[in-house]
Parts: sequence; C-alpha cells; structure tokens
Amino acid sequence: MAKKEILEFFQKKPERFYKVRLFDELGFKRKQCKNCGKFFWTLTDQEICNDSTCRPYEFIGNPPTKKPLDYFETWKLIEKFFVENGHTPLKPYPVVCRWFPLYFTIAGIVDFYRLTDSKLDFEFPANPVILPQICLRFNDLANTGVNSRSYTCFGMVQQSSLFDGKQGYWKDECIELDFRLLTEAFGIKPEEIVFIEDAWLGPSAFGACLEYHVQGLELGNAVFTEFVGNPENFVEMEKKVVDMGGGWERFTWITQGTPTSYDCVFGPVVEKLKKLSGLKEDKSLQNYWKLAGLLSFDEASEPNAIRKLVADKLKISPKELEKKVSKFETIYALADHTRAIVFAISDLGIPSNVGGGYNLRVILRRAFDFVEKLELGVEVEEIASWHIDYLKKMFPYLEDRREEIEKIVRVEKERYRKTKEKSKRIVESLTGKELSEEELIKIYESEGITPESLGVKVPPLFYAKLTQKHEKPVEVEEKFPFDVSTLQPTKILYYQPIYEFHATVLKASGDLVVLDQTAFYPTSGGQAHDTGYIDNIKVKEVIKAGKVILHRIEGSLEEGKRVLCKVDKDRREILKQHHTATHIVNAAARKVLGEHVWQHSAYKDVDKARLDITHYDALSEEEVEKIEAEANKIVRENLPIKVEILPRGEAEQKYSFRIYQGGIVPEKELRIVSIGDIDHEACGGLHCNSTGEVNCISILRTKRVQDGVVRLEYCSGDVAISYLKEVENILGEVAKKLEVPEEKVPEAVEKLFKEWKSKRKELKKRKVRK
Ligand SMILES: [Zn+2]
Ligand SMILES: [Zn+2]
Repeated sequence: MAKKEILEFFQKKPERFYKVRLFDELGFKRKQCKNCGKFFWTLTDQEICNDSTCRPYEFIGNPPTKKPLDYFETWKLIEKFFVENGHTPLKPYPVVCRWFPLYFTIAGIVDFYRLTDSKLDFEFPANPVILPQICLRFNDLANTGVNSRSYTCFGMVQQSSLFDGKQGYWKDECIELDFRLLTEAFGIKPEEIVFIEDAWLGPSAFGACLEYHVQGLELGNAVFTEFVGNPENFVEMEKKVVDMGGGWERFTWITQGTPTSYDCVFGPVVEKLKKLSGLKEDKSLQNYWKLAGLLSFDEASEPNAIRKLVADKLKISPKELEKKVSKFETIYALADHTRAIVFAISDLGIPSNVGGGYNLRVILRRAFDFVEKLELGVEVEEIASWHIDYLKKMFPYLEDRREEIEKIVRVEKERYRKTKEKSKRIVESLTGKELSEEELIKIYESEGITPESLGVKVPPLFYAKLTQKHEKPVEVEEKFPFDVSTLQPTKILYYQPIYEFHATVLKASGDLVVLDQTAFYPTSGGQAHDTGYIDNIKVKEVIKAGKVILHRIEGSLEEGKRVLCKVDKDRREILKQHHTATHIVNAAARKVLGEHVWQHSAYKDVDKARLDITHYDALSEEEVEKIEAEANKIVRENLPIKVEILPRGEAEQKYSFRIYQGGIVPEKELRIVSIGDIDHEACGGLHCNSTGEVNCISILRTKRVQDGVVRLEYCSGDVAISYLKEVENILGEVAKKLEVPEEKVPEAVEKLFKEWKSKRKELKKRKVRK
C-alpha cells in the first residue's frame, strides 16, 4: 500500500482523521477541489483549493499580511508566538545528520529521530518545542531557483509535540495554534486559509496530515504521526507525534509579496548578484512569477510542456520566456547553492565523491558554472562570505567557520578547473554527438563533469537519479548456523580487569561457541578482537551479533559444559593502547587541520592502527609532523580517560553530536569516553586509564585513500618503540654503506641523488643523439 491508499484509508473516516475542533467551532466545510480532486477545508464557498497547481501566487505585489518582515523578523514573530503559547525554543540542529542514518537533516522532525534497537524512536529535549531547522535536500535541483518553493537549503519552522494523553497536545491544539499564528500573528484573514487533507508515510511510521495554504502557497504541513509499522501491518503509537513543518522562506515571502521567494530571504545577496550580472527588474514578468508555482520539472516527462503552458497563458513564445527568466533562475539557484555550502561546511560536511559529500560537490560545481556563465567577476567563496555576513546575526557560529569555508571552496575550485580541462577534450571528441542520460551520468561519475559545464541540456531527473545512486547502502548482516536472536544476551566482563574466568557453553555449533558470560572482546567499533583459550582450545575470532557474543575456536565444545577461559593479556594491552591512540590522533588531527575533521572509519590491530579522517586534500609532510607532535603532547600531558554512561539526550546536550565519531549508536544509553576535555566519543571499546599509558605515538604513513578521506597509520607503546629501533637500525646501515656518520646521511643522500639525476640526463641526451 502506497501513500495513495493510505490517504484513501484516512479519507474514509474524515471525522476521525481530519476534522479538528477548530473546523467545528468556526464552521469550516469539507470540499473536493474541482480542479485537482483533493479534499480541503474552507470557510468560504470556493470550489477549488489553494494549492499552487490550482491557484497562482496571488499575494505577489499584494501581501495578505499585516506588514512586511525580513528573514529574521519572520522567525522572531513565529518564535514569540509559540513561546507565548508554552513552547520551549530550541537551537537548530546541524544540517549534517550524525544521529540517524541520513546524510543530511532533510526535515525538522529528523532532529528528534533516533534508533533504538534498529527501530525508529524519538528523543525530545522538551515538550512541546519550536525551532528553526536549516534543512538540506538535493532531490529537487531542477526546480531550485524556478518555482519559488524549491531550495536545496531552506529553513523549516518545526513545531513539535509528543502526545500521550497526559502530556503534550494533539491535532485540535496544533491546528488551533497554526490558525492563530496565521491570523493573529501574521494578520491573514481566516477566509484566505485552506486546509488540504493529505497523508504522510515515513520510515516505519505514518499518519494523516493537514497542509495549510494561503493564496496558492503552502505555508505549513501539520503531520500527525500515530501509527508505527507499515500500512499492511501497524499499531497505534503510545506516544503520538505532532510534526508541523512550516516554510520559513515562504512566510517571509508572503509578507513581502516580492516576485519570488528568492528575492527576499537571502538578505542583500540576490540584489548584489543581480547588479553584477546587469540584470534589471522586469515588470512584464510579474504575471510569470505568479504562475511559476505551476512549474514542477521533475514530475513532468517534458519540462518544456509546462513552460509552454505558462508561456501560452502569458501570450509569449516559450523561447522568449526562457530567455527572459533563465538569468533570474540562475542567480536564484546560485544564491541557494552557496548558502547550502555555507551551512553544510559549517556543520562539518565536505565536498567529495562519496556519500553526502557527493551532493555538496554537485551543487558547488554548479555554482562555479553559474558564476562563469553569468560572467559575474566574483568568486563563489565571496558569495559564501556575503551569506555569512547576513546570517551571522542569527547563526553566530558561521563567522568562526568563514576561513575554513573559503579554503575548502578554493581547493574544490582548483580541482574543478583541472577537471574542466579534461571536459574540454571530452566535448571536442563528442562534437555532433547527442549524449544519452546514461552517458552523462557516466561522465559525471568518472570525471566529475556536470552536463552544465559540457554545455549540454540537463535531462529531467538527472540529479535526482544521481542522488538516488549515492544513497546509503543497506548493511548486510552476517549469517550464523543458528538463530542468534533467540539466545540470551551475553554477560559482558571485558570492561573489568578480568583475564581469567569460568563460563557455561550455552550454544555450540561447528567451531562457534556462545558462553553465558565472556571477557573476550569481540571485533567491534574498529577494535580487533581478543584471542586466548577456552578450555585450552585456541580462540581465533570473537564476533558480536546484536547482544550475543560468539567465539570461533580451533576445535569444538559441548553445550552445557563448564569451561575455563583465558584472555591473551599482552595482545589486549596493545589493542588498548592502539585504540586510545586513535582517539588522540583524531583530536590532534582536528586541532591541526580544522573542525571539519571527522572519523570516517578506524581499525585497531596489534601491529598498527589506522584512522581514516574526512579531509579535503592529501596531507603535507609538515601537517603530518604537526599532528604527530600534537598527539605526543597529549600523551605527555597524561590526561585522565573517563568513562561514563549517560542517557542519549543528555550526552548529546553535554558533548554535542561529535560523540558520534564512530557512527550512530542505536541505544538509549551511551557509553561516553572522554580524554580530558579535548575529546568525547560514544565508544564501546577498551581504552587506557590515562593518555600517558599510550607511551608514545608514531605516525607510520598517510595516504589519500579516496576523495575527501585521508588515512593515517600509526603505532604506539612498545610497538612504536620497536618500530623506531628498526628505523634506527636501517639508518645505521645506510650510514655505514655511505661511509658517513648518521647525522650526515641526508646530505650524502642528496648529493648521491643529484649525481644520479645528472647522469640520467646525460644518458637521455646520448640516446636522443643516436
Ligand atoms: Zn486543487
Ligand atoms: Zn574508543
């Protein structure tokens, strides 16, 4: 059953799912739109609904509100209203989502999504709440800058309440509040407001919703999430969720009545861009912008058809229309894309060709192309800076990130220039050839070249298809010869200093053994497993499967047997050091390279450990030296390493979302490992008691393993000492061979190298002469 069927299911009982107290009290009538067929609630006799596909944006040039408000004033007014009505105001969450399996915060409600035992759960810091959430969405690039509703980066007015019959509120109160917000706070006449029935289907939950529209513009959508499961198999939730998402930009727009929403939400940015491009206001386009709401490119197989429809209404040719509006659209999209980059990089995202970074690169490259196409004579990083100048009033942290944003954009630009050189050659080889969508996708994926920069028309859905291809893959769970989920959770002993213990074999099959309790650490969180013996049988591998721990042994055991277990203590000690060193190197890299450094993945074995971090460039020798020095400084400071178990929400408030360095932890309680006050991570691994126990850290090598990811390999403790000894031995041997003292080796090698180079040159010359 898809959304359509759910909607039908709800609409069979409109009294139960849609009729709220306000409708009764004020006499809202339920009608079916003669144009689009949707059901809506209104105080008037209107026969068509207020959707943009049914009505033009009538407020352009004639706003229905009390007074014009800028972007910040809009938020202040909304916040004030909800705070006066008992809501706790919250700060926006980061746009890069670290707490739920999404790359970006695509909606306000995502702030409260958590996973508990792989199921959707909610984490509300207060109830009810109001906040301005900046969201990123990259599935609507074709319409961004076009229809006034679409953005890749937009603010969502998030009004939420958790309702269990006692606390919070439900549909009646929600719609009353929204109606009062529109009428009392904004001064919109009640007759202008229409509520349209719809349904919402999310990840493992769904519910009915009421959208509120004014003069062709949807201002908000109140979603009432009340069922978990899927539409075939669901139960009513104990705690229901009011999830009202309003369009911050749209609220500003309706109070100003400017030709598009893009004209009034970016502060001075759009005005500046228009000036640089020599673009003048065009009064003849006023009617076009009113109809622009009809444009929705990716729903149409042929985008030109809609453009033609609008052109016909305006009685001009589609070509002429396109010519008139395309420059405006490009400027609007450029303003949007650069703002998205500002927020994304500020919240520690970086452009790359993997995961969410991939989307950031697409919009950044589009922005480079736009700037070039419009011949603006301004750099993308400057436009980003204008946004910061404007936004810092409400988002002061952007100021601290200005330099890093500029640097990252510049590195990307350099990379793109090189790519474009390549694309020139591609274009030359393609002259006269029509490229299929498939080929364009291939060119983007292999070379990073956008259709725009090839001078080719972007096929509809091109970016949507690309985005889909880069969505997170589903992780495949390991299969075992027996059903692990039926076993009791293994009692864990490895957080205590226990290396010898007795246990009972609960399950045995082939070489796999499950005990009632264990001190063997399983491979998890990037830390390699312990080894040792169970009743003198060697333990080869230790695996975690949910809450059960499995031991792979060199032999077999009988179920029910009482066994004596011994953990290899030396191996464990090294793993502890390498694991602790990983936290330290991460903190050191962040300090040296910048705030955008985030753990991408890590692995701690006995011979060495590796940490992959997010970074936009390869590391210079100097940077590596600095990181090593910083890491060893942390070791020398002998900072205490503290472990505390905290409720998830509390841990996030106390230490920020940086705790999720190792990814999402689907638990209500988190184990937080802190190194002094420089690093706090949710981590289930085993660590030293203080940084001094790591002894020393030696970085062995670094490598750019993929775009946007740099690998550091290092060792610590005795492993590092024996490594350094080895290096010393090699140096001694080299010195001996060169017949110089050790400290003269670099000099001697350089001399040797120069001689070799000149010899090679000579040899080449001779070859040429022949
Ligand atoms: Zn309609
Ligand atoms: Zn750890």
